[in-house]
Amino acid sequence: MAVPKRKSSRSKQKIRAASHRWHAPKLNSCSNCGSAVPSHIVCPSCGTYKGRKVIEVAEIA
Ligand SMILES: [Zn+2]
Repeated sequence: MAVPKRKSSRSKQKIRAASHRWHAPKLNSCSNCGSAVPSHIVCPSCGTYKGRKVIEVAEIA
């Protein structure tokens, strides 16, 4: 079994741990209406995905 040659320093451990930190999801703008939408998600305001209407969005009056 492969074994680490050197003990990883406190600094390297901290740098590695920092990469597992939670990040806020990145938002893209909708190509149809321009609202902020997470990637790979149907736009909740207009119901389109990749320029195609996928779902009907109920209007709240
Ligand atoms: Zn949209």
